[in-house]
Amino acid sequence: MPTLFKYEKGIKFLKKPENLTLIADPTTVKAAENCDVTLITHAHTDHSLAFPNEGIRVYSTKIASQLFESLTARKTRNTKFIELNKKININDVEVKFIPAGHLLGAAQIVFYFDDLTICYTGDISTDKMLTVPKAAVPEDEVDILITEATYGKGDLFFDSREIIKTSILKWVAENLQKNKVPVINMGHLGPAQEIIAYLNEMLSVDIYCDNRTSEINKIYQNEGHNLQWNRFDLLNDSELKAERSVVLLPRAAKEIPEFLKSHKISRGIVTGQASRFAYSSFEQAFPFSMHANCNELLEHVKAVNPKKVYTLYGFDSDFAAIVRQKLKLFARPIKMPKNRLTLEEFL
Ligand SMILES: [Zn+2]
Ligand SMILES: [Zn+2]
Repeated sequence: MPTLFKYEKGIKFLKKPENLTLIADPTTVKAAENCDVTLITHAHTDHSLAFPNEGIRVYSTKIASQLFESLTARKTRNTKFIELNKKININDVEVKFIPAGHLLGAAQIVFYFDDLTICYTGDISTDKMLTVPKAAVPEDEVDILITEATYGKGDLFFDSREIIKTSILKWVAENLQKNKVPVINMGHLGPAQEIIAYLNEMLSVDIYCDNRTSEINKIYQNEGHNLQWNRFDLLNDSELKAERSVVLLPRAAKEIPEFLKSHKISRGIVTGQASRFAYSSFEQAFPFSMHANCNELLEHVKAVNPKKVYTLYGFDSDFAAIVRQKLKLFARPIKMPKNRLTLEEFL
């Protein structure tokens, strides 16, 4: 009996003949409750919602669990910590978490079923950055690769991360020279720590962020990343040295904090989505992402060299087509339109 897999509010595996069910990155509590084993690749909330439930035994890295707690201010409950690069046995299935890049503690998961070796990437980045290693390529032969495709579309334009970081630096320096405080929106977890590490390295400025980002920064610091920052909620207005301060806001923040209202500011945003959208309410939008871009995804697929590829998230159809065309591999989105195939028909 072959191992079956499909997307059903998470990536679901059915091991035969035991009828053991595993789910990776479930998007509802119910989906996880209905399975024997739940695994989480990383702390971003579109992957990690199963953490705070006593009834769900979750397997994840320790850092993913800690970052989830800082990001959401909720406790994880029933988590078994998995070390990276170490094969372990969960209910008679061998599993290995390997580095994914993307953010601290993020993993790809390799499942060694009797008949199939399957690698699910979670979210990945393949560039070595200041705060994350590059995504690892599994050492073992992989039959099925289930890859993210967040930016898996050929015509999304990303400069190299070095070039984008340099343009952020230039924009920050120019604004400080004009006595304007650079205020930059970006994701709390991942981009914020990478950009703080970069600005720390390149400029002597005071970086201010909100309390939640600060809690996340502390976990990076405990893991040996020497980030320097301040909390703006603890700031008295008179303390801000406008000529040498940079303020980071959460990506979706529209309002500027009270303490900035007496200062001249300039607003920027850091997001991979700037490769698609104009962000006209900001003076500058930087398409910097902790996700692999289309070329990087393709290189990763090539390096893993699987027999079949299934795509997930973002541009799943576009990326499957690119894999078919460029690598001549079987590739298709793992999410099929409703009522198309039953689980048994799926393979
Ligand atoms: Zn993510
Ligand atoms: Zn994601």
